[in-house]
Amino acid sequence: MKWSIRIGKLFGIPVYIHLTFLLLLVWVGVLNWRDGHSLHAAVEGVLFIVTIFACVVLHELGHALTARKYGISTRDITLLPIGGVARLDRMPDDPRQELWVALAGPAVNVLIAATLFVVSQLVSSVLSFDQLGVAGGSFLSRVIFVNLFLVAFNLLPAFPMDGGRVLRALLATRMEYTRATHLAAIVGQSMALLFGFVGLFVNPMLIFIALFVWIGAAQEASMVQMRYSLSGIPVSRAMVTEFRTLAPSDTLDDAVKLTLAGTQRDFPVVEEGRVVGVLRQSEMLRTLARGGSSVRVTDVMERDFQVVEASEMLDSAFRRLTERRCNTAPVSSQGRLVGIVTMDNIGEFLAIQGALDRTRQGRPAAHARADAGGAEHSTRPR
Ligand code: ZN
Repeated sequence: MKWSIRIGKLFGIPVYIHLTFLLLLVWVGVLNWRDGHSLHAAVEGVLFIVTIFACVVLHELGHALTARKYGISTRDITLLPIGGVARLDRMPDDPRQELWVALAGPAVNVLIAATLFVVSQLVSSVLSFDQLGVAGGSFLSRVIFVNLFLVAFNLLPAFPMDGGRVLRALLATRMEYTRATHLAAIVGQSMALLFGFVGLFVNPMLIFIALFVWIGAAQEASMVQMRYSLSGIPVSRAMVTEFRTLAPSDTLDDAVKLTLAGTQRDFPVVEEGRVVGVLRQSEMLRTLARGGSSVRVTDVMERDFQVVEASEMLDSAFRRLTERRCNTAPVSSQGRLVGIVTMDNIGEFLAIQGALDRTRQGRPAAHARADAGGAEHSTRPR
């Protein structure tokens, strides 16, 4: 994420802190100093926020380490003023695994609250339930309160909260995944409307949360819809078959000429009929900026690249490209290079399918989405 500073690594996962979060720290410090007129109050305020965010990091680690158990790695964890985000490479396909990954985060906060409660009882018995609150009470009791709040907030059954994933996973054990997502998104958006409405009268903060939930629900639904539209279609039907290749001995000058002559951004590098690498535009530009227009392709090409089989399904190819954050992959059939598949090209394919769908159905595609019940989905080839 832009404007993020890396603060360290936990279990091999880089942890970033967004610059706006530092602003929050300053703001809380100033606020507490103004109210308490003491450095002590200001420091305690900042310390409180830091502690809460340590709890949020542990929450995200709960998701990340559970996902790791299912073989899914986490790119990074970022701390934002609104909470944390763990970017998993993908969501598990098995609803039961998704359920555990989603529940693991809030479970960590339950554990923290319970542990702190026991500790506070052992250290001194002054903490009682009527002291629980975010404004009053001891430092410890406030941390416990916030952890319980985190559990409740994250378990709201709405995307992008954990509760939305829990709901989808539970629905998906009984129905088809797309339909489960669609239902969970409807619940999430209804809830967002309710938040927004209540927010008008009670707390404007709720309106922000409503917006966040609304967008999250819509995004999740369209992502799943896209994956669904891509499933059951082989790569060979959507791949680019008119493309250019480079030889390892070509120079970046040659690559520049090919780039300007067409719309292709990345080029397969072929030697004796075999793909030995991929020249990425980003790498080409980096090398050109260092004055390397006569550098040979073999010196800058990517050797560890994804190859997609022509018979592979588009959704799996799409997932592999997203996971590796790569834009282009060569497509092979029986060891021969037969095409390339790019993210743009998949996007075009979806747009065309959507348009064809509309003419075939004589109604907007949005309706087709609403009743995408089982295998009978309109965007599939017949
Ligand atoms: Zn979570």
